[in-house]
Amino acid sequence: MRADRGGSGRVLRFAPLLAMLTLAGRARAHQEPPPAHPVDDDITRTSVVQGTDVLREWRGGVMGTSFQIEAIGKDAAEIDRVIGLALDELRRVEDVFTVWRESELTRLNARAGQGAVPVSSEMALLLGISVECGRVTNGAFDVTYFPLRPLWNYKAEHPTLPSEEQIQAALKFVDYRRIVVDRQNSTVELPSGFSIDLGGIAKGYGVDRAMDILLAQGIHNGLVQAGGDTKALGRKFDKPWQIAIKNPRHSDEVFAVLPVVNQCVQTSGDYERFFEIDGQRYHHIIDPRTGRPSAGCMSATVIGPEATFDDGIATAMCVLGPEAGMAIIEQLDRVEAVLVGMDGRVHLSSGLQKAGLPSEVR
Ligand code: AMP
Ligand code: MG
Repeated sequence: MRADRGGSGRVLRFAPLLAMLTLAGRARAHQEPPPAHPVDDDITRTSVVQGTDVLREWRGGVMGTSFQIEAIGKDAAEIDRVIGLALDELRRVEDVFTVWRESELTRLNARAGQGAVPVSSEMALLLGISVECGRVTNGAFDVTYFPLRPLWNYKAEHPTLPSEEQIQAALKFVDYRRIVVDRQNSTVELPSGFSIDLGGIAKGYGVDRAMDILLAQGIHNGLVQAGGDTKALGRKFDKPWQIAIKNPRHSDEVFAVLPVVNQCVQTSGDYERFFEIDGQRYHHIIDPRTGRPSAGCMSATVIGPEATFDDGIATAMCVLGPEAGMAIIEQLDRVEAVLVGMDGRVHLSSGLQKAGLPSEVR
């Protein structure tokens, strides 16, 4: 099966993964969604010079999480100009797809039940890819899960658990197959009571779009990361880019580092946003079959050519778990995965068997 990626983004040439390193180190903490864009003073900018090449790196916050953009060139001021454009693009994508304040998506949600609603071609594109992710994952990825989210409010000061009746009532409005996307006429129809949250795929889309900006501006070696979603272009000087996978039970440590060239790495996990009651963890990825936080994987890393589609797939892996999830990964063209089951065992797709990754996470 070759998944239709809905024409998103530029497909970078796929390079095989090189040898794998494992190390312990610090990883950056994720942040809660901000009310608006952070001011530019919150961005740290650093340089590394090697010969006549200069690498500029910007870090800060966007899309409710941390971002990192790196680009290599000859002139620091010119590289900064280009990185600024890529960051603007991440912010623009956030503005279109956020549900934390008014956006094109919240306006679409408000019109559920009103027939086919005109949307931007970009909205039709991303919803088309989202529906395709739903189809490929047998509904594990479902952007209509949104009515379930307030029942598992990890942001509440004193979170409570929903009743079975509340879950069943919300589940009546969860089914990605009920979204009608017309890409040609740029319309979307949502049944009455339905609503969409693109939190599981919009970061990947932003990463693809921001990388398009770097490419269009003549950058040949660079990296864009938003939260757990990363796209690497070319190399970091003469070496592959190094992408860390966090230890899902000690998220200030990493359990592996993937060396990548011209690839995307998406990591989802149950450790990013959660609350606990009586020692039980209730997190932000919801199983659309049960209406409850997923119990498939602690962490799922998907490696492939495009951040958008693979972001949705990574979220779905957390729902499906290592066995059912890996069966889907093996069907996808040029996609590999590192899935950490709820018992801490690490499951590797066929292309990563010889990569030297640890077999267990503690
Ligand atoms: P990610 O970090 O890419 O795994 O995305 C997690 C986010 O996806 C959550 O915070 C929700 O906004 C959204 N989400 C949760 N469960 C699902 C699901 N089953 N299908 C699609 N999106 C989901
Ligand atoms: Mg995702």
